[in-house]
Amino acid sequence: MTDVAARLEELRERGLYRRLRLIEGPQGPRVLLAGREVLLLCSNDYLGLAADRRVREAAAEAALRWGAGAGASRLISGNMEPHRELEDRLAAFKGYGRALLFGSGYLANSGTIAALAGPGETVFSDALNHASIIDGCRLARAETVVYRHNDVEHLGSLLRAAAGTPALIVTDGVFSMDGDVARLPELLELARRHGARLLVDEAHATGAVGPGGRGAVAAAGLSGEVDVVVGTLGKALGSYGAYVCASAETVDYLVNRARSFVFSTAPPPPAVGAARAALDVLEAEPERVERLAANARVLREALAAEGLAAAGSTTQIVPIEVGEAEPTMELCERALKRGVFAQGIRPPTVPEGSSRLRFTVMATHEPDELRRAAGQVGAAAREIGLLKSATIAA
Ligand SMILES: *Cc1c(COP(=O)(O)O)cnc(C)c1O
Repeated sequence: MTDVAARLEELRERGLYRRLRLIEGPQGPRVLLAGREVLLLCSNDYLGLAADRRVREAAAEAALRWGAGAGASRLISGNMEPHRELEDRLAAFKGYGRALLFGSGYLANSGTIAALAGPGETVFSDALNHASIIDGCRLARAETVVYRHNDVEHLGSLLRAAAGTPALIVTDGVFSMDGDVARLPELLELARRHGARLLVDEAHATGAVGPGGRGAVAAAGLSGEVDVVVGTLGKALGSYGAYVCASAETVDYLVNRARSFVFSTAPPPPAVGAARAALDVLEAEPERVERLAANARVLREALAAEGLAAAGSTTQIVPIEVGEAEPTMELCERALKRGVFAQGIRPPTVPEGSSRLRFTVMATHEPDELRRAAGQVGAAAREIGLLKSATIAA
């Protein structure tokens, strides 16, 4: 056996083997999976904008006007009008002096963190931060100190212990696997007290929380106060790419020093055009954000009524913790057979022993189909003995 085959075998044995599922057709509240319609509860297209006609047309128009690709990195010859226009729109939307586009959220986090923290400095990172933040910390040749999830007292004691070292505090705004919200006012207060910078990743917050979907930083009234805000165009904004909002000076520094910006091709005009149209829709139709929050509440309550509480979640990300990887995937498969497509999430995405079935709600779901889905998941959980109370069907 080759060593790659052996490593794959080990993943299978540990219940950690992953494979790709093929979606037929565009993203939507219901999709075709292997020829069968299922309720899609694992897309980040929270507002239904990826398939919105206006957004698709804007992508097509940008392709016709500006071309399919940007041809070079921004600093060489890839800097085009659509990039600058979208950056201005994003900066205004988020309440910042400047914004800078990146190829993806992964690239934005890894490049920005590595640029802002160097040798002799310390990055303080929440234990449940996204993998792109963890990789950014690894790339930054700074020391990384992990604080307990959303535990500002723990962070405070770690900051005191590190007194004197320049520091960067990094957190998800809405946590991607738990659906809870960072304690931003306290984090900013700690950052100010200890002379540290604060970076908040709004990947799951933009379009989903805060006034008009402006994010968790805006919800806390801290727009322009938090030093650096990262967001993606790939989730609620229905496109692809990402951005960093900060002061003009910080953005100028990132243009010079963020390696994932400097050494990567500028985002393609169709993706940029689509994101801009998505922002237009979001600003014109803020009720989408309210529908998303209302739908999330419906699903949380319906799952709780089945005995499946999503502890901690206050957002459109609704996880039910199972524990081990194998029963999690069994529940995932059985829910899918019943027409409910949610993803089982296992290590290394979440810590050992906290595998979960993770639902993400969309503004375009019907409340009734969410209630029915919760019923199906409850039935699937009873079938495999995860819920002891009721009789096992069939
Ligand atoms: C999805 C996600 C990213 C990565 O964004 P992409 O644009 O998909 O690369 C970064 N941070 C968080 C918290 C995410 O959930």
